[in-house]
Amino acid sequence: MTRLWKRTRPLAVAAIVAGALTGALPLPAAAEPPPVPVTTAADAVAAGPARVFPLLAAPRYGDGLGASRGHEGQDLFAPAGTPEVAVSDAVVLEAAAGYDGGRGNYVSIYDPAADRTYNYFHMIAAPQVAPGQHVARGQELGQLGCSGSCWGDHLHFELRAGRDPYGPVLDPAPFLHTLPPAGRVGLAEAQMVRTAAESR
Ligand SMILES: [Zn+2]
Repeated sequence: MTRLWKRTRPLAVAAIVAGALTGALPLPAAAEPPPVPVTTAADAVAAGPARVFPLLAAPRYGDGLGASRGHEGQDLFAPAGTPEVAVSDAVVLEAAAGYDGGRGNYVSIYDPAADRTYNYFHMIAAPQVAPGQHVARGQELGQLGCSGSCWGDHLHFELRAGRDPYGPVLDPAPFLHTLPPAGRVGLAEAQMVRTAAESR
């Protein structure tokens, strides 16, 4: 026992000293590199107060990025009909109804302030917005459902870099966890924004 202590102790001390010198805690050897890009601190900053959660519900988290054969988003389970809202002020890039592919009824919106695109798949019915339309943070885009390739009512939410519904995939989970609930306040604010815009 004593001999083992003598053999391992200097290594531990060396690791602690190295950590102190570099300002970092000693870490285990690096694992495999992540298979896909992840969100950065800049994304968390971009989340801030100008953005809200994409659902008017506290969902159950399902499959995330990389799950089940290259899954490119985060599944958020909630009751059918739950309003899905714009994460931020944005412009609608795509809005498809009756699409029988994997996405089902879906909406894609672009957030110019963050230079990010958000995709919402599997809506219960046709989206409430159209391509080219400007939407306010918290504005309803459609309702949660299970159209397309789907096995249970949920929002498949994607975060992509740039102005492109098919752009580089980012992990939406860390981003989602930074967002405050949309709630009814979000909808009320969106209504105020729309009213102010219409009265100009
Ligand atoms: Zn999904």
